[in-house]
Amino acid sequence: MYRDLSLEKFMQGVIRRNPGEPEFHQAVHEVAESVVPYVIQHPAYREAGILERMTEPDRTIMFRVVWEDDAGNIRVNRGYRVQFNNAIGPYKGGLRFHPSVNLSILKFLGFEQTFKNSLTTLPIGAGKGGSDFDPKGKSDREVMRFCQAFMTELVHYIGPNIDVPAGDIGVGAREISFLFGQYKRMAREFTGVLTGKGLEYGGSLVRKEATGYGAAFFLEAMLHHRGEQLEGKTCVLSGSGNVALHCAEKLRQLGGTVVTLSDSAGFVYDKDGIDEEKLEYIKVLKGERRGRIADYAERYGCEYHAGKAPWGVACDVAFPCATQNELDQQDARDLVANGCRAVVEGANMPTTVEGIKVLTGNGVLYAPGKAANAGGVAVSGLEMTQNSMRLAWSAEELEGRLKAIMQDIHGKCVEYGSGDEQVDYVKGANVAGFRKVADAMLAYGAV
Ligand code: GLU
Repeated sequence: MYRDLSLEKFMQGVIRRNPGEPEFHQAVHEVAESVVPYVIQHPAYREAGILERMTEPDRTIMFRVVWEDDAGNIRVNRGYRVQFNNAIGPYKGGLRFHPSVNLSILKFLGFEQTFKNSLTTLPIGAGKGGSDFDPKGKSDREVMRFCQAFMTELVHYIGPNIDVPAGDIGVGAREISFLFGQYKRMAREFTGVLTGKGLEYGGSLVRKEATGYGAAFFLEAMLHHRGEQLEGKTCVLSGSGNVALHCAEKLRQLGGTVVTLSDSAGFVYDKDGIDEEKLEYIKVLKGERRGRIADYAERYGCEYHAGKAPWGVACDVAFPCATQNELDQQDARDLVANGCRAVVEGANMPTTVEGIKVLTGNGVLYAPGKAANAGGVAVSGLEMTQNSMRLAWSAEELEGRLKAIMQDIHGKCVEYGSGDEQVDYVKGANVAGFRKVADAMLAYGAV
């Protein structure tokens, strides 16, 4: 039935079944480019229609979320949970609260999560969810009421062995606490149903740092593989959230110099490098104070570029850590022209298709998010392990495990992505991630 599988035909089918979902098409196309040839070489996957099945979520849940703002107005948002694939473990993936959230974005994220979670070596399936609710500018009490209303519906679909959500853009420690509190009230059980929890109630050390630290460890592994060191490398980062700040922290500890950070209003360029004290300041600024990165430039007297992204700054390595499609073709050209030799994605799908072509076409090492930012969900998996065992590991233990997982993911990318010249990290991550899920699905039988 699938004997005539080709990339073109496969993508036509995906586009026909999922009209008006450009981000989802983009994510599937990136995977299909490397996995379709692999499936063609392996008839068992092709005959069982595994790739077709993997691009269709198990189910999508959509619900109304009604809450009251501080002025007493009734507000309505939409909530989602896309349970993408549970072939290798309970659905697992973050919740995103951002006005741009729609089904296309959540399906692309859930699809990516399938491969990412498979790469972690842990028994976790894939899901993603969230809402078009914007926490920006809302009071703590408004966020609490929204989270409670959101969980009042989501509670019916999740559980420690069913689906384990976590944070993503707009969902941090504050939101997870409110969500967990409501889950606990409604489900009448205390259980590891969310990850990224507070340390007082079942959270894991190093979870907060994990995505950013993991991306830095991944770069270190890439450089070591080429016989190079991280020490002395100039790094340009976008974003100033959980991922960017902890990535900057680890890069510094490993001897790199981080010269930029950004938010949606602009970027700071600190030629001297952003040191520990400055990072601490930004953590408070962007965390509790929910301020703008411009305040940092003012305080430390460095350059601030309003309305711009940092891709024109000279560097050895770039880390897009903000959001999808933030680095386009022209940005990629600017990076190449300014000497950048590696791009490591802290965010999910931050580079456009054309941007990736410019990078790889110019010999830039390119690490896709599903491999490079898998550290976050990996430590989420370890949070689930600790919750099941009802114990807590030390920070050293967790950081050691995180580093080992990132090295392992790197090793798999090399194993499946090695070609004539440099490692093809896109192919390596896609094929290695695909294999584990595909083999589990095959083992379960045809339907
Ligand atoms: N949102 C993160 C990601 O994109 C973490 C998900 C999780 O910990 O479940 O991988």
